[in-house]
Amino acid sequence: MKGLLTLKQLSVEKILELIHFAEDLKKGCRLSYPNKKVATLFFENSTRTHYSFQCAILNLEAKILDFDAKVSSVSKGESLYDTVKTLEAIGVDAVVIRHQEDEYFKQLEGINIPILNGGDGKSNHPTQSLLDLMTIHEEFGKFEGLKICIVGDIAHSRVAHTNIEIMRRLGMEVYISGPEEFNDNSAEWIPFDEAIEKMDIIMMLRVQFERHQEKMKMSIEEYHKKYGMTEERMNKMKEHAIIMHPAPINRGVEIASNCAEAPKSRIFAQMTNGVYIRMAVISQALDGKLSC
Ligand code: ASP
Repeated sequence: MKGLLTLKQLSVEKILELIHFAEDLKKGCRLSYPNKKVATLFFENSTRTHYSFQCAILNLEAKILDFDAKVSSVSKGESLYDTVKTLEAIGVDAVVIRHQEDEYFKQLEGINIPILNGGDGKSNHPTQSLLDLMTIHEEFGKFEGLKICIVGDIAHSRVAHTNIEIMRRLGMEVYISGPEEFNDNSAEWIPFDEAIEKMDIIMMLRVQFERHQEKMKMSIEEYHKKYGMTEERMNKMKEHAIIMHPAPINRGVEIASNCAEAPKSRIFAQMTNGVYIRMAVISQALDGKLSC
């Protein structure tokens, strides 16, 4: 593996290796790439993925080239391929790309520098899944047999689609829940209130309004009442169970504000782990290293 486009390209062994490496980086193992340059190209909005990739690059002592699509030649009609080929030609060592188009990377065959996928349309978000897995591993020390329910706008979520595939391969029991209009049958559906009592992990999702072709069939208030993580629901979860969310969170919609920072929530721990996962992935891309 040079870059990272989708987790489907990685074996379970490789995924476990990346997680263990990220855990070592979190414990303080250090790497340094002062002569390497990594470009971050975000064609879709992002806070966590964009800046945690940048923190990861800085932690590795490499240099960042932050691409601004609005003032680049993309606004003059340059293609994604020619943009990335240009970065390669001027000496960039790796590129991180987020793009609204599903599998945009298929246009990039012929690029020789590693591409790290920061999210494509509603299909893949490999580093988000890896950081989710790291957080689960940190919590439970295993994957096999754990029960997770992913709740909300499954149909438009690259996080759900990526997680469902890899979590099954890791031996987890994966369920989905939420409004019927967002059920794309990508996993077994379970009523939300049943999931609350049975799962080890409840992963809430943001409603992906920007991807909707039609207006959601219910109001925000109704959504929160039926499918939101509320204090009442949180108190019915198993004692050891945790709440996850890829964020951005919409407080008062899919999650009540006081649940976001409750002891059961791992939302901000997920963000912290994202930096280490991205360091591991960048190091692997730059020189194949999976240890310090
Ligand atoms: N940040 C995640 C993503 O880029 C989840 C979200 O936007 O709701 O897919």
